[in-house]
Amino acid sequence: MKKRIPILAANWKMHKTIEEMREFFSSFLPLVEGVSGRQIVIAPSFVGIMEACRLTSGSQVKIAAQNMYFEEQGAFTGEISPLMIRSAGAGTVILGHSERRHVFGEGDELISKKVKSAVDHGLHAILCIGETLEERNQGQTGEVLGRQLGKGLSKLNGDDFVGISIAYEPVWAIGTGQTASIEQIQKAHDFVRLTVAEHAGEPVAEQIRILYGGSVKPGNVKQIMELEDVDGALVGGASLEPESFAGIVKFEEN
Ligand code: PEP
Repeated sequence: MKKRIPILAANWKMHKTIEEMREFFSSFLPLVEGVSGRQIVIAPSFVGIMEACRLTSGSQVKIAAQNMYFEEQGAFTGEISPLMIRSAGAGTVILGHSERRHVFGEGDELISKKVKSAVDHGLHAILCIGETLEERNQGQTGEVLGRQLGKGLSKLNGDDFVGISIAYEPVWAIGTGQTASIEQIQKAHDFVRLTVAEHAGEPVAEQIRILYGGSVKPGNVKQIMELEDVDGALVGGASLEPESFAGIVKFEEN
């Protein structure tokens, strides 16, 4: 039995039209009906959020956004605000994903503003952090995680921490089929919890959920979820097929 309620989160990235999403949910929802003791979160594209909320209403599946801008409104062409995400029906937002950092050039300062804004607007934020292969090979993993986490949390105080989770996602393990080893995952999660304790205190560190992301599949999720400091998974590729993501959600059965 996990100390903290696990989160199994799907990041669909730029996949699935509305029709494909409908097909997914018609197969997926019966597969996870009655599953308890965990939170199931799915992040479709922005344009899919409203329909995903409609399709999942009455189920235990919660819908998330994959990103947002920190302002409520204004001249920010192409951006989506926390108010828009809320009004579309999503309650969670993924922030600082490695593709946002490395493909779209988002830095720690911008991400920290987004995290604070999400929490201020009642959204649960999943803050993603993770080192590149080069950083790991140069022995900089701790430094990178410490910086991304320290900056990412820097604008939060007190109760704000209740509104966030962290996803440790080594960049070299995302979408590559190469999962971090069990030892690497536990070591990084332990480091993340200690770092959260330094910034926000022991009680916060004890309750915060730390998800692992990076080529999680039905075949490896059980072993990963058994680790003491792993409180969930953030899943890209293997969340796109209903059977595969249902297998991850029901991780104990694998
Ligand atoms: C992700 O995009 O957050 C991710 C972990 O992707 P994948 O599961 O495909 O590695």
